Amino acid sequence: MDKPGLIMCVCTGKCAGFEKMDIWDFINQVRVELPVEYGFIHPQLCEEDGDRFLADFLKSKRKIIVAGCAPNMQYKMFRDAFTEAGMDVRKDLVPLDIRDMTTEEAVDKVRAALEEMGVGEVE
Ligand code: SF4
Repeated sequence: MDKPGLIMCVCTGKCAGFEKMDIWDFINQVRVELPVEYGFIHPQLCEEDGDRFLADFLKSKRKIIVAGCAPNMQYKMFRDAFTEAGMDVRKDLVPLDIRDMTTEEAVDKVRAALEEMGVGEVE
């Protein structure tokens, strides 16, 4: 399958949930070492500008991993954006909760998700 894109949602950058990790080390390790098409940080995907961003971004129809908060919250918050883009949030979004993790724990979680998705060779 095509490599997914990965968006790290950093919850404004001020949330306690990301204090244990270095967000820059995390995103750089993911985008350089793991089989994703690209990886980047968004400040707050569930805000209004996040909706507008997703409306544009999902036009690519690429499967995305969102590394951020709890999957059930993500499914709820992003369902409409995926539906409007003609995508299925349950199939085309891979939501990962990486809050309260160290950098290595969070990278490992993404690695495991990619392996489960059967994407490319994990270095
Ligand atoms: S989508 Fe989740 S991680 Fe991102 S800003 Fe909203 S609550 Fe925080």
